[in-house]
Amino acid sequence: MSNKNKIEPMEITFWGTRGTLPAPGPQFSQAGGNTNCTELTIGEHTIVFDAGTGVRELGSQLAAERPNQKVHLLLTHAHYDHVEGVPFFAPFFIPGTQVKVCCGDLDGSNSTEDTVLDLMRRPYFPVGPSVFTADVEYVDLKANETFKIGDEIEVITLPLNHPGGATGYRINYSGKSFACVTDTEHVVGEHDQSIVDFIQDVDAFFYDCSLTDEEYPDFAGYGHSTYEEGLRLQKLANAGMLIAFHHMPFRTDEELNKIEADMLKSDNPANMIAREGYSFTL
Ligand SMILES: [Zn+2]
Ligand SMILES: [Zn+2]
Repeated sequence: MSNKNKIEPMEITFWGTRGTLPAPGPQFSQAGGNTNCTELTIGEHTIVFDAGTGVRELGSQLAAERPNQKVHLLLTHAHYDHVEGVPFFAPFFIPGTQVKVCCGDLDGSNSTEDTVLDLMRRPYFPVGPSVFTADVEYVDLKANETFKIGDEIEVITLPLNHPGGATGYRINYSGKSFACVTDTEHVVGEHDQSIVDFIQDVDAFFYDCSLTDEEYPDFAGYGHSTYEEGLRLQKLANAGMLIAFHHMPFRTDEELNKIEADMLKSDNPANMIAREGYSFTL
């Protein structure tokens, strides 16, 4: 922090809330069509959870308003909907900007750097990450690792139940906390105790609410969960606001509004679905 005694607000903005595939079209426009990307800003530190298509517009804004800064890009995993915006993230192309790309263990990849190299190679992409002109550092995270950003921001990681692996992140700063829990699959009738512990007393968290309990049996094994499971975990963990995240590409605004209305029947009147462009402060 530039001023050690100053407590900065934790500002969270959704740039992409869609899972699996982008969803253009008027029936999806309130929640937005871009894939996973969430910005968390604390003072001079910018933390970005995932680089789906939403990261392109975030990158443009960062380049225009906050060039030459440090960006921490925390990837949950390398499925397309979480990384397809990586080659289009403007801070990678600004000399003097520092971008730290962090990712946990993934099946079939030796390192975070390999993950990005594989994403940006022929025949899938025309150029490799050697085109980046920023100061890019790749960090390999281990499951259940805790590390610091700056002197005061604590980041805790959690391995999630997802094909190929995925990592959850919890940010603790100055008595406030926010957790990113996507993508993960639950076991019907059981609760993932590691997630309950991870989100214990958190102020707000977003959770993989791709599905409903009714839909889940048709999608078992794909690595996703339901908003009802999110509500159950919230209660068990005494967690604050639940934000339904990773909307399926077929989920219309009308359907999401119904899900949100159901989520508001719970004990927490602040529960909501994630909508692209929405910001809030903790
Ligand atoms: Zn996903
Ligand atoms: Zn995934």
